[in-house]
Amino acid sequence: MNLLLSTLILLWICAAECKYMVYDTAQTIKAHKLNVHLVPHSHDDVGWLKTVDQYYAGANNSIRGACVQNVLDSVISALLDDKNRKFIYVEIAFFQRWWNQQSEVLKTKVKELVNNGQLEFINGGMCMHDEATPHYIDLIDQTTLGHMFIDREFGQKPRVGWQIDPFGHSAVQAYLLGAEVGFDSLYFARMDYQDREKRKNEKTLEFVWRGSKSLGSSSQLFTGIFPRHYDPPDGFTFEINDVSEPIQDDHLLFDYNVQERVNDFVAAAVAQANVTRTNHIMWAMGTDFRYQYAVSWFRQIDKFIHYVNLDGRVNALYSTPSIYTDAKYAADETWPLKTDDFFPYADKVNTYWTGYFTSRPTFKGYVRTMSAYYVAARQLEFYKGRNGSGPNTNALGDALAIAQHHDAVSGTQRQHVAADYALRIAKGYAEAEKVVASSLAFLTSLKSSGNHENEKSVGTFQQCPLLNISYCPPSEAVLSDGKSLVIAVYNPLGWKREEVVRIPVSSHDLIVSDSSGKEIESQLLPIFNASLKTRDYHVKAYLGKSPTTTPQYWLGFTASVPPLGFNTYIISSAKHTDTSSAMSTVWTSDSTNDKTVIVGGGNLKLHYATDEGKLTHYINNRNLVEESIVHSYSYYSGHNSTNQASGAYIFRPSGTFPIKSEGQKAFAVLKGPLMDEVHQQLNSWIYQVTRVYKEKEHAEVEFTIGPIPIDDGVGKEITTQITTSLKTNKTFYTDSNGRDFIKRVLNYRTDWDLQVNEPVAGNYYPINLGAYVKDENLELSVLVDRAVGGSSLVDGQIELMLHRRLLFDDVKGVGEVLNETICVLDDCKGLVVQGKYYIRIDPVGDGAKWRRTFGQEIYSPLLLAFAEQDGNDWKNSHVSSFSMIDASYNLPNNTAIITLHELESGTVLLRLAHLYEVGEDKDYSVMTSVELKKLFPNRKTRKVREMNLSGNQERGEMDKKRLKWKVKDSSEGKIARGGGVDPEKLVVELGPMEIRTFFIDIDNLIMFGSE
Ligand SMILES: [Zn+2]
Repeated sequence: MNLLLSTLILLWICAAECKYMVYDTAQTIKAHKLNVHLVPHSHDDVGWLKTVDQYYAGANNSIRGACVQNVLDSVISALLDDKNRKFIYVEIAFFQRWWNQQSEVLKTKVKELVNNGQLEFINGGMCMHDEATPHYIDLIDQTTLGHMFIDREFGQKPRVGWQIDPFGHSAVQAYLLGAEVGFDSLYFARMDYQDREKRKNEKTLEFVWRGSKSLGSSSQLFTGIFPRHYDPPDGFTFEINDVSEPIQDDHLLFDYNVQERVNDFVAAAVAQANVTRTNHIMWAMGTDFRYQYAVSWFRQIDKFIHYVNLDGRVNALYSTPSIYTDAKYAADETWPLKTDDFFPYADKVNTYWTGYFTSRPTFKGYVRTMSAYYVAARQLEFYKGRNGSGPNTNALGDALAIAQHHDAVSGTQRQHVAADYALRIAKGYAEAEKVVASSLAFLTSLKSSGNHENEKSVGTFQQCPLLNISYCPPSEAVLSDGKSLVIAVYNPLGWKREEVVRIPVSSHDLIVSDSSGKEIESQLLPIFNASLKTRDYHVKAYLGKSPTTTPQYWLGFTASVPPLGFNTYIISSAKHTDTSSAMSTVWTSDSTNDKTVIVGGGNLKLHYATDEGKLTHYINNRNLVEESIVHSYSYYSGHNSTNQASGAYIFRPSGTFPIKSEGQKAFAVLKGPLMDEVHQQLNSWIYQVTRVYKEKEHAEVEFTIGPIPIDDGVGKEITTQITTSLKTNKTFYTDSNGRDFIKRVLNYRTDWDLQVNEPVAGNYYPINLGAYVKDENLELSVLVDRAVGGSSLVDGQIELMLHRRLLFDDVKGVGEVLNETICVLDDCKGLVVQGKYYIRIDPVGDGAKWRRTFGQEIYSPLLLAFAEQDGNDWKNSHVSSFSMIDASYNLPNNTAIITLHELESGTVLLRLAHLYEVGEDKDYSVMTSVELKKLFPNRKTRKVREMNLSGNQERGEMDKKRLKWKVKDSSEGKIARGGGVDPEKLVVELGPMEIRTFFIDIDNLIMFGSE
């Protein structure tokens, strides 16, 4: 009746005089109706099939017609046309590119659109980051960059997480990159198909997510999952080539269809309401790279809002996820509780998105290495004082931010896009390397010259980014004519470290002296042909030229480095009167009749059976741990079915095959005063070194895998297994983005009864820090140096996937086969990956100390810089040891400085992280504290403000604003968080898993002057 009447009136108006229609789009929420929140959005991948700049500029359109510049240009003009229209924007890497190109006039108009709520930034990091493969420090950094941009230009603080596309969702995303940055809610699309069905039936697609055991309800947020995907219901997509029927409401034209389309809208709304609590539903009106001609969408949404509201059965409105969140909150509902995470993700029976946990392992390794370098480089940039015009760390920060995108570090982009990410990081590194070199030169030169003019005369500190493949020109140079090599060893962590440093050298008569001039123990290990082959090929591939020298040995010595500081060591040629570096003894199986060889000069002993070269026992003489252990490799053959192949995203094995060692000929043991090494050439494409340091109680495994052979036409995914006899009851633990450990049970999910279709792929989880298993007596931990996939498919065993090379596309969009190669000129062969993992067995309850404290050392390795000295004057003219912090102080072993960064404004951003979870360790899972005065001795701290995690608002302000959700069946223990910081005492307390962020204004530089 109502509809009929209004249609008649419209008809009359138009028939009488006009063709121009005015649509009423001003609708807001109606309390007693079903409200359909229409949220216009474009999902703009920061690199995927095209590079970030190709997407931005609309280049390379033969791959895909996508131009983000068109999106932003046309959206802004459509918003200016009608003040009721709204749009959300998410990826700041794109927005910043666009913003920098606009006129002041347009910028003013855009600011107005932001202020009046038509344009809202949500999520607001540089990219929509992946949630499986990034480290939490990278997630924080990339979010901070975007949030600070939005705050600086618009004074806005994003309120909503919008992780619509990532392939699975992490606990750390919910609590750390959600609640702790000030979000009230989080929305996403992808989840396990079985879980989704259950949640639709039970109306639990929306809930409150408590991602951290330690921080509990203090870090929870409302979470909504779309019933299907992040696009509108079928029939409501309106890009110019889309097939949905537009509303045709002109009676003078054919195909008038207002009522049919209104009926479609109401039907789709009611269907969604049937699986949703409260009278609010949200439609994500857009999808990948949409709104390139924005008016094509807005025209239709205008009409739907107009006619649907005339119809009156449901209420349609322009909305944003913030408005939707507030409506959900106002409904005063008690929501179901969700803990842990949403891994692994399967969208169909045989389609587990667990391959990308390992895809592109060298890129993952590069991102991790550079992430740690960025942390260290910003510290050194801060010590020297930020350089206004010279090199800085910004480019590396930008490149790493983009690399966290869900098609970047995930390894799911096209090959040329992977190369583009790597190139950006390499350029950023080149600039940051200069920052590090000049800061070290500055800090070492302070002694000899009061005015620091000596900096130039120091000569440049060189660094060796290819040290992992034993390429380091400054250390390989033959020392002659009284010259010696100076090595500055920098420690980015807040506690003192003693670690063996290894560098390639060209001669054997060497002595190592510490900064006081005292000779210290050192060890030479011959570099074998396998390593030299890797070195020569890759130096040629990376630098375009062959190395001119060939190092003979690794030289190892123990560096002792103060917290947040450096120590220097001098390598010089030994005169025949000196006791030079100790040559390792080389043992091969031919040289003995013993059945067992024991490796390890300290507490840890590894037993190997000499006949097969197999690891058999792990024995720690200090804590009396004794356990049988087997270390093996195998591969999965990638399924090649057109139905579902194994590919860049998907892990779908069709069989598993052990990789047998091809005889014992290449089994060699090196022994010496600092470390023992076991070298094993398992086959022609797997080489492994197991290293036991005298002073450490873990085994370090360095693997070199590749090129994976594919001449049999079979793609392969290479795994390693560490197997013990622990009775672990199908239970294992993996970390969330390098932070909280989450309990996993084989073939089991907490939230629903799992129907097991893929018994291997469906039990794979992302690993960034490590994994462990335990029984009543022991725990076995394995830590990693980059993101990998892994599982515990057999009791007592941890399995890691280290490399994959596949021959079929998995039809999830990338449209390319994951078959990475490395080329010298036109000669290409399969990619070789070299990396490390670390193994330790502890009495049950003791493992956390190693996983957390040593885990942080893996993330932040010692940074080495090399200079040459003439004669003996270095020691007399330079500062040879330095710590930024008070000499009597170090950070507790459960605390790390994860950010120390002088911002462009001169304010210092400091982030402190507690490294332990509640209940994880009897000594370290406790409230801890850091004395800021001792972190910045000799400087005057003027003002300390505690900020939210992304540094865009004061913490107190954020806590006041955040919505307090009601949760069903919720009980929890007391949550420990540090209290306020007294401005006089300046002591920061940290509870388990707490991260606190501060802006500190410091008066420079009374600095280190008295040295
Ligand atoms: Zn995407």
